[in-house]
Amino acid sequence: MSKKVLAIVETKDNKLRNVSLEVLTAANRITDRQEVVTVAFGDDMEKHMEELGKYGASEIYTVTNEELDVYTTDAYFQALCQVIEEIKPDVILMPHTAIGKDLSPRIASFFSLGLVSDVIDVQKEGEDITFTRPIYAGKALERRKFVEGIQFATIRPNNIIPLQNEGSIKKVDFKVEVNNLRTVIKEVIRKTSEGVDLTEAKVVIAGGRGLKSPEGFKLLQNLADVLGGAIGASRGACDAEYCDYSLQIGQTGKVVTPDLYIACGISGAIQHLAGMSNSKIIVAINKDPEAPIFDIADYGIVGDLFDVVPMLTEEFKKITIAAV
Ligand code: FAD
Repeated sequence: MSKKVLAIVETKDNKLRNVSLEVLTAANRITDRQEVVTVAFGDDMEKHMEELGKYGASEIYTVTNEELDVYTTDAYFQALCQVIEEIKPDVILMPHTAIGKDLSPRIASFFSLGLVSDVIDVQKEGEDITFTRPIYAGKALERRKFVEGIQFATIRPNNIIPLQNEGSIKKVDFKVEVNNLRTVIKEVIRKTSEGVDLTEAKVVIAGGRGLKSPEGFKLLQNLADVLGGAIGASRGACDAEYCDYSLQIGQTGKVVTPDLYIACGISGAIQHLAGMSNSKIIVAINKDPEAPIFDIADYGIVGDLFDVVPMLTEEFKKITIAAV
């Protein structure tokens, strides 16, 4: 029997986040296209309908309420519970983003559901759905199946290649009640600059304590600009106040899975590896040939990053100009 899948999507800066398309692709792997229902909040979703339809959503619930314009846990939780009660899905998939990480345990607890979080692969095997996720800071993978109840999983960005499955999409306006909010957002102040989202970036240039000062990050920004990448950091660099904690990658920071990760002046502590070891190609630049980061690097450059990074930037610039 075909399963009904609720694929929760997210937008950022008025654009659909790429992980939304990954969630839809995962949904289409496990059910027929007409059983994929999607929902999003706090944005004018009409402009995203065409794209959602292209990637396999057959129905979109547009949820409107002025309390949903800015994310608060209470408001989104209440709204999502009402959507789930209305749709009665067999499977719920949502992005493993800051919002997904905040909401999914509450939803699971409220409906007494099992939850498999931070999933990197979803496959249908007969009637079963297998969810694969890294454990022990990425050292092992576990595959999980649900034995009963609604199957609920969050999907880590950058692991499922979005596939189109074009067809018609129907809009359903859905009104929700939002009451008794315990918090109100008065103002949102961005700490990081606009640009490529770190968790979804295809290229990440990360800096560590070896950068020695906040100015060191400007070098990395030049390289990131040439490669269209995002800047990340070790906790060492954040603790030293070279950059904001929102850039921290690792066990207590963000998890990234880019195609290319360039670690500059990062020693490779186990807590840092937990956030980036699943990157497809890892390049390490470090002046210490014994630095542990070289153990997991595909390419290692032993040298002073203040020489190597500008050289790389210049070389990549030539390739980019030649390609244009
Ligand atoms: P260092 O270990 O000091 O390494 C700096 C590196 O730069 C050295 O290898 C050095 O050889 C190199 N270097 C110096 N100068 C140059 C130069 N000019 N050119 C090239 N190379 C140079 N860390 C994280 O990153 N993320 C986390 O989420 C995280 N969570 C943690 C959670 C807990 C509970 C704990 C206890 C620790 C956590 N840490 C985390 C901290 C982690 O253990 C390390 O202390 C931290 O990752 C070190 O940062 P670093 O590599 O930048 O600094």
